[in-house]
Amino acid sequence: MGFQTDSIHAGQKPDPTTGAIMTPIFQTSTYVQESIGVHKGYEYSRTQNPTRQALEANIAALENGKYGVSFASGLAAISALIQMLESGDHVICSDNVYGGTYRVFETVFKKFNVAFSFVDTSDPEKVRTALTPRTKMLFIETPTNPMLILSDLAALAEIARAHGCLSVVDNTFMSPYFQRPLELGIDLVVHSSTKYLNGHSDVVGGIILTRDDELASRLYYIQNAVGAVPGPQDCFLILRATKTLALRMREHEKNALAIARYLEGHPRVEKVYYPGLPAHPQHALAKRQMSGFGGIVSMDLGSLEKARRFAENVRIFALAESLGGVESLVDHPAIMTHASVPREERLRMGLTDGLIRLSVGVEDEEDLIRDVGQALEAM
Ligand SMILES: *Cc1c(COP(=O)(O)O)cnc(C)c1O
Repeated sequence: MGFQTDSIHAGQKPDPTTGAIMTPIFQTSTYVQESIGVHKGYEYSRTQNPTRQALEANIAALENGKYGVSFASGLAAISALIQMLESGDHVICSDNVYGGTYRVFETVFKKFNVAFSFVDTSDPEKVRTALTPRTKMLFIETPTNPMLILSDLAALAEIARAHGCLSVVDNTFMSPYFQRPLELGIDLVVHSSTKYLNGHSDVVGGIILTRDDELASRLYYIQNAVGAVPGPQDCFLILRATKTLALRMREHEKNALAIARYLEGHPRVEKVYYPGLPAHPQHALAKRQMSGFGGIVSMDLGSLEKARRFAENVRIFALAESLGGVESLVDHPAIMTHASVPREERLRMGLTDGLIRLSVGVEDEEDLIRDVGQALEAM
């Protein structure tokens, strides 16, 4: 089936008792058994829940995977991936990952003797050099947040496979509509479904997708054993939202491209980062491995003072953490979302105090451009 057909129908069938076209919110902790050990496949909601299973099957179809394993947040899903490893294992991770990913790796999992190397995965040679006999996972974020640097997924999947280590992609920024890493040979895809998958800024959630039977069964084991499961109401809301994922992503991209082009020609903007601009150093790779460029645009305004003035003067764009919702947001990564990344580390990757990240929403294009324009003038 096509992406839009799957987004509306995959994992969902009319409720057998009533015919309800929408999957019900099975708000229950337990299920009555006919006799001891005789039940309908549902025992306890940490282990199985029909609303959650519908969501998992739906997103698995969108990523062209076979299994979905969902969690209470993106970071719970990322933590479950590390919980698949053993003490003594080594992980190679993109050096410009989401701040919370860096934090959980460095401050929580390091204590359990899992080693992390933060490597520039945009250069496959650097990844090859960082491999050790103990490397068991390659964790990639592409494009990165907020610098929008790409990593070549087909090349990295090949390196990981040859070394016998798992490859993981955090696909939050592109959503399966624009990028499907499993099709490029990656083993596991993870999402913060808080972002584009849900898209309405009213749920925190996470999910892992794979085609591999064995990896899926290990992850279902962790989902149940550790217990960071999402509630049925949250699953219902994300399931409702994926029905319009394609429609939303097309609008996000149309508006983001228009804003990136506008900023590129604006004298008060020092630098624009958007993979859809031909000036982006990896524009060719972006066109090859993604079917679109997404809704995130970053720009350097030159100083903290200017960034602050911009953020205070936008009217439609709201100053808030998070991204991927229908409403446009503005973020100051150095102080807000990426404060946990050490300053020298931030500057090394170009994440200056003048950097602003825009999560471009689906409002009218002309209104958004006018808003950005007047805030740049007020600067
Ligand atoms: C938000 C985000 C996360 C963390 O997800 P939560 O749902 O906030 O726990 C991980 N990776 C990326 C790229 C994100 O944007």
